[in-house]
Amino acid sequence: MRFQRPRGTYDRTPDASPLWRQLRQLFDRLCVQYGYAEVDPPIFEHTELFTRAVGEATDLVSKEMYTFPDRKGRSLSLRPEATAGVVRLVLENKLLAAGGLLRLAYWGPMFRYDRPQAGRFRQFVQLGVEALGSASPAMDAEVIELFVGLLREVGLAELRVDLGSVGDACCRPAYEDTLRAFLAGVADRLCPTCQERRQANPLRVFDCKEPGCQALLGEAPRIMDQLCADCQAHRDRLEALLGARGIAFRRDRDVVRGLDYYTRTVFEVNYPALGAQSALGGGGRYDRLVEACGGPATPAVGFSGGLERLVWAIGNEKTLGRADLGVRGAYLVLLSAAAEAPAARIAARLRASIPAEVDYSGRGLKAQLKSANARGARFAILLGEEELAARAVTVKDLDSGEQKALPEENLLELIQAWSAGAPPAARP
Ligand SMILES: [Zn+2]
Ligand SMILES: [Zn+2]
Repeated sequence: MRFQRPRGTYDRTPDASPLWRQLRQLFDRLCVQYGYAEVDPPIFEHTELFTRAVGEATDLVSKEMYTFPDRKGRSLSLRPEATAGVVRLVLENKLLAAGGLLRLAYWGPMFRYDRPQAGRFRQFVQLGVEALGSASPAMDAEVIELFVGLLREVGLAELRVDLGSVGDACCRPAYEDTLRAFLAGVADRLCPTCQERRQANPLRVFDCKEPGCQALLGEAPRIMDQLCADCQAHRDRLEALLGARGIAFRRDRDVVRGLDYYTRTVFEVNYPALGAQSALGGGGRYDRLVEACGGPATPAVGFSGGLERLVWAIGNEKTLGRADLGVRGAYLVLLSAAAEAPAARIAARLRASIPAEVDYSGRGLKAQLKSANARGARFAILLGEEELAARAVTVKDLDSGEQKALPEENLLELIQAWSAGAPPAARP
């Protein structure tokens, strides 16, 4: 019997790990620099949290959630997104009690029962931030800047931010009436799902992927053309702030985030070179969600980005070379079983400054050197009978081919000198 992973999932294999680790470190560093503290809610929550917070009528909740009863019959769901859980965590742990701003970050797997397609999985990893406590467009600008900054640091410079607004409690009801009236006029040509949506939650018709509905919706009124004065002022100020930071954006009346909780700002960040699958993430403002979850009225804004798509984009564009992905270390080649104990001792000393791997396979010199190269090591350190007798080592610089025998105590010094003299070239 051979097992296979479930449809829509993937295995992260060792060759991908250095890049993932680097992205994690970069994200952590940015969060520290901007003052976002990491939180980690569970990957499953009570189903009702998502139906309430994300919205029962959204595709995310109605079609794509992994929902199951636990052994006591309680309905639980794997999280399809992070914001609802973060808001629940904030309220349950009374994090708003201190007042002021709350800047939070997360990183972890999300789950959606979606049709698998290029760069989309049923278990996928998102990173993101949530900033609670400010209604200012400056907060929106900071969140967008952080995400764009992350992408720029990994070499994805040619970005496009699509910026829209979905209005607020002041202007959205009137817009929904306009939209309902429009939808009533084309009702007989809408798909059955949109027939249901057009009464209860008309904005959700924009999530429809049916070509027939999409064609009809091209003519539909957009909320961007019907914003109240406050929502317009918010949008104008945000646009000015982004412009001042040198972040290119495009005003887009078609950005819909597929979630009910957004108010005012919604955005998507695209890397156009990727073509049809160019969205790397997005987010927006959710000024009423905390209240809807039972907390005090608290304005908030956040973004989330998909790691799989990001990794794919970096691979596609080859914006990072292998040398960028970490220090290249030493590989200890053992030519005698008696070398195992000294090798462990030498490796422990080396690890104070560079990575060191010991080959305990018992194979011959050639095979071990081949592994050293395959592992991307910079130095091979040979330990044979002669070296053991003399308490010495033979070091080989795998880039230059230069080789030298020396006493064990001088090893670190030589490696540092060679490393400094010739910085390792980027490997393909
Ligand atoms: Zn439809
Ligand atoms: Zn408004």
